Amino acid sequence: MLQVKNLSFKYKKQAVLETISFNVKRGEHLSIIGESGSGKSTLLKLLYGTYDLNEGDIFWGNTPILGPKHNLIVGPEFMKYVAQEFDLMPFISVSENIGAFLSNFYPEEKEQRIQELLKVVELESVADVKVKELSGGQKQRVALARAIAKQPEIILLDEPFSHIDNFQKQSLRRSLFKYLKEKNITCIVATHDKDDVLSFSDTMLVLDDAKIMAHNTPKYLYHNPEHKLIASFFGEFNEIDGEMVYANQLKQVDISDLEVKVKQSYFKGHYFLVETEFKNKSLFFENPSALEKGTSVFLTIIKES
Ligand code: ADP
Ligand code: MG
Repeated sequence: MLQVKNLSFKYKKQAVLETISFNVKRGEHLSIIGESGSGKSTLLKLLYGTYDLNEGDIFWGNTPILGPKHNLIVGPEFMKYVAQEFDLMPFISVSENIGAFLSNFYPEEKEQRIQELLKVVELESVADVKVKELSGGQKQRVALARAIAKQPEIILLDEPFSHIDNFQKQSLRRSLFKYLKEKNITCIVATHDKDDVLSFSDTMLVLDDAKIMAHNTPKYLYHNPEHKLIASFFGEFNEIDGEMVYANQLKQVDISDLEVKVKQSYFKGHYFLVETEFKNKSLFFENPSALEKGTSVFLTIIKES
């Protein structure tokens, strides 16, 4: 188990993280979310032992994770960290990069392992291409494959799909997260993409103002967002009488107390996001069809749990 106890850290005067405590079980998948600059990357770096803490402790089981003051080499053996900026060897092939840290003692097993990893990150077709000739997204895949090559006990991923286009993201995400679960590898992901969280995370941690704003399951926080920051992470939402209501929780009815005036309809594929005016503020709801500007409609809140 990973234990973070009362961690505080600052680069300069201002605290970036303050009295942070949480645990992650073996094989658990935790997402860290929060606005840009909220300290997600810093927290991952601290978990990896990149900096010395100002206060607090980090343990993996009984092993303390220590910063550079106490360690010559950053990063414990059992842990892998994939930074937002990845660091590969450009002049050798994808396969060679992935195999770089695997033992040459059993060449056949090594080759087999490389094939397995190429499959997980869907790079079979460019196995022999030099890394310098790859796109940003392909490089990110190589970095991911290299991080799981030696099967760490715990992996830290900083916005792991940020360079990968939408055409390929869904399938890579399923493949990688399924692999990590199967191998019981603990996974901590910093992300701003709800699709990384909803289907794949056991728990999520929300950072705000140097502190933990919430730590719970994605399902719980989706249904009980409590803060605007959390609701906005999951989707378009409205605040109606102090209550957080997602745009998809409002339905058009014949008559109700909630009368709004249509301003604009946005095509979203299988629905339209309709912007309306309610009490001089914008209110959004989802509708199967576009609605004419100026029309009055009545809405009701339907929440399923
Ligand atoms: P996030 O990943 O959530 O966007 P970061 O952890 O990168 O946030 O940054 C948190 C805060 O720490 C920001 O205010 C950022 O400017 C600051 N920061 C990050 N890295 C450094 C650094 N190496 N030196 C000084 N300040 C830093
Ligand atoms: Mg970051």
